[in-house]
Amino acid sequence: MTATLRLLMLLLLPALTWAESLPLPSGQAQILPAPYMYFWEDPSGQADFTDVSALPDSAWQPVNRRDASFGYGASAYWLRLDLHNPHDRSLGWILLIGNSLLDQLDAYGLDGKRVYRAGDQRPFDWRWIDYRQLALPLELNAEEQQRIWLRMQTAGSANLSASLMTRETFNHQQQRSLLLHGLFFGALLAMLIYSLTIFCITGDRNYLWYSFYVASFSLYQFIQVGFALQWLWPNALTWHQLSFPLTSALATLFGIQFTYGVLELDKAAKPYRWSTHTLKACAWLVLGMALLGPYTPALIGSFALVVACAVAAFIITLLRWRDGYAGARLFALGWFVLIAASLTSILSGTGLLPYSLLTLHAQQVGGLIEMTVFSIALAARIRHIQEAKRQAQTRLIEQERHLRAEQARHLELQKQISESLEQRVQERTAILQDTLQQLSDANLRLAELNRRDGLTGLFNRHTLSEELARACARAERSRQSMAILMMDLDHFKQVNDRYGHLAGDACLRHAAQRIQQRLRGSDLLARFGGEEFVALLDSTDLTGALDLAEQLREDIARNPCHYQQQSIPLSLSIGLHAGVPHDPSSGEHWLELADRALYRAKAGGRNQVVSYEANALDGA
Ligand code: GH3
Ligand code: MG
Ligand code: MG
Repeated sequence: MTATLRLLMLLLLPALTWAESLPLPSGQAQILPAPYMYFWEDPSGQADFTDVSALPDSAWQPVNRRDASFGYGASAYWLRLDLHNPHDRSLGWILLIGNSLLDQLDAYGLDGKRVYRAGDQRPFDWRWIDYRQLALPLELNAEEQQRIWLRMQTAGSANLSASLMTRETFNHQQQRSLLLHGLFFGALLAMLIYSLTIFCITGDRNYLWYSFYVASFSLYQFIQVGFALQWLWPNALTWHQLSFPLTSALATLFGIQFTYGVLELDKAAKPYRWSTHTLKACAWLVLGMALLGPYTPALIGSFALVVACAVAAFIITLLRWRDGYAGARLFALGWFVLIAASLTSILSGTGLLPYSLLTLHAQQVGGLIEMTVFSIALAARIRHIQEAKRQAQTRLIEQERHLRAEQARHLELQKQISESLEQRVQERTAILQDTLQQLSDANLRLAELNRRDGLTGLFNRHTLSEELARACARAERSRQSMAILMMDLDHFKQVNDRYGHLAGDACLRHAAQRIQQRLRGSDLLARFGGEEFVALLDSTDLTGALDLAEQLREDIARNPCHYQQQSIPLSLSIGLHAGVPHDPSSGEHWLELADRALYRAKAGGRNQVVSYEANALDGA
């Protein structure tokens, strides 16, 4: 029975304690005052301290959450806290408001008649203690009781996250927190410099996006923990308000850009690209809202965007990992940490998760881990790229070798072709030369034939003219005598008439042959016309010429032509001209003179030899 009672009392004890005033701590102890607080919501935000202090006790409700978190809304919240100092002296305490983004916080009853007014929508120098968070000093004498009222109004998360400690503990904590934050931002700065350096060296855009991502994330954190207002823009309140969702949206945008590049989504399937483009559009929308629109929707939008992007990036990374993209594993881990951290931070902001040191710093710790993982992943990517480059180089060298071999084969083939071609050309050339030789022989034969008479085979009239001119020129130059014999068969018409034309032809061949036999090799015999022949005698004077002519006449007269058992008697009249020509072009004239002598031989009774010289002498 007593045990049951004791248990009941133990269970009721916290409720009883709430009703009481809060004993201020000593030493290193740090307590959360929220469970000792009562609150009254002022939806219009119009009530002033006089109105609120006159409220009946029944209007006040206990704050059931350790962090006094009321989520997002336009209401003002009044909080009432009774304190007492159980110690025998004043230790000096600090009521620390962990949420440095509270727009307005007023405190009544801290220090006599003075009202504490601060918040991130009020100039920084209004704060009683020069600190990044709202630190309210408390002075209570030994055994003193004191009631304080807080008024909180904010467009962000209405979240007090108050803690109470002695001034000494606060100083101690402050130093530790500065050290931790120094480390945190120092690490971020190192990462920023690292990635910017890599960008400068490699020129890979992804490192630039990553640098911007780290920079905007760092600024976002700098704003959230209260350093930005304290150190960067203590009086730029409007800018301060919008900078928070703005840097968040910027970080998201650069994160998307960086993820897109690093996972090589431009080469991936359409849905990947489509979803990243959609998220990017959303990031631009939130950016616009942060710059122009109302604060609360922009803030909630930026949080939603962070969650959506982190989840999308996580899923896309996993899918890329499944697709076989090796670098995705580390990125997936990074995104997972960021999602967990962001969710923790946002859920604690909306009041769904209790506020604690871990939830307060979740985003910072998560962000730091995530960025470290990303840095490692980027470094791994460099290795991966180097490896890919090396492989590509090897492939290229292999290709080049292959190409060279192919080229050599090609050249060999070309050589063979040209060799066989050359051989064929040579063969063809030989054939051609042979043919040309034959042609030239044929031409020569043809030319020779052209020079001859068809019936007798003697030189023709044309050749006679050429040779006569040449012989004349030669004799004139050498001053040697030459002779021309003009021969005509007598009464040949009658031969034709009597024996027929074929017999006449045979007689012509017979006479030609007989005359030719008597001539020297250097003499020339030509058929001058129908039954007329001309002999051109080199180095022959008149006597020699007369002698030869007489022999010829006699030979023809003695040797009839035998044709078809018939003996056809023939006789020859010869006119001649001999001497040394005085003019190299007197050939035709000589012919005429010989012809005149022939005419005389005919006139003289035929079958005789007459020289032009005798004729001339006669004439003379
Ligand atoms: P002459 O004693 O005065 O020279 O009398 P000819 O009959 O010989 O002279 P003419 O000039 O009157 O006749 C020449 C004849 O020669 C006429 C022609 O029938 C003959 N004749 C010319 N060329 C050829 C030929 O190629 N073959 C044959 N069978 N007869 C020819
Ligand atoms: Mg004649
Ligand atoms: Mg005749």
